[in-house]
This record gives sequence, structure tokens and C-alpha cells, in this order.
Amino acid sequence: MSLVFCPQCGLLLPAGSTACPRCGRPAPAPVPAVPHAAVHAAPHYTRAPDHGLRLGDYLGPLLLFCIPLAGLLAAMIWACGGTASAHRRKLAQAYLIQQVIFWAVVLALAVFYMLGLYMQLLQFWAL
Ligand SMILES: [Zn+2]
Repeated sequence: MSLVFCPQCGLLLPAGSTACPRCGRPAPAPVPAVPHAAVHAAPHYTRAPDHGLRLGDYLGPLLLFCIPLAGLLAAMIWACGGTASAHRRKLAQAYLIQQVIFWAVVLALAVFYMLGLYMQLLQFWAL
């Protein structure tokens, strides 16, 4: 429940009245206390995820990840919850997963290549 005053004569209007009993001016739309907070909370809540979607929030960490050892360390710390930003944590987790896939492929290719060299050596010695 909130207090509503007549905008013309300043009389405190009785609750639920649609017009001022003194001057007859229509009462302004009441602004209830609890829905007031809900109205302000709702758009903030739905817009909250967008606050982390600025370009700099991704460009900064991605540039940091390019630094050989410090980038990997920062990604590990952030991925384990060392940051208040959920976007940064998930970005770090995604980066680490991408790195694991990348190095697994590199390692597989290296092993494949070494096996090929080994086979060539075996054939060379067999002659
Ligand atoms: Zn009035």
C-alpha cells in the first residue's frame, strides 16, 4: 500500500479512489511498493547476461591466453573458479578444452611421424 496525493491540490487521496474528493481531478496511477521493486528487478535480471558480452571481455583474455606460460596459468586459475565472472570462467574452460584437443592431435601426428621414421630405419638396417 502506498500514499497517493492529488497532483492538483495535494490532498492525500483515500486508498483505491479514482478521483480527488476535493477538486475532482483523476487520481494518478498508484505505484505500489512491492511491484515497484519487481519492475526494476525484472529488466535487470533479463539483461544481466548481456553485461558480459562486450568485445573487450573476450578479447582481453584471448590475448592473455596467447602468452605462452602466463596464459595457460591464467586459464587454469579462471577455469577452476578463480574469477567472479561466469563468462570468463567458461571462456577459460573452453580455451583449455580447445588446447587439449589441439595438443592431442599434434601429439598423435608426432607419434605417427616417429613411427614412420622408425619403420624406415628398420628397413634401412634390414638391407
Ligand atoms: Zn485534488
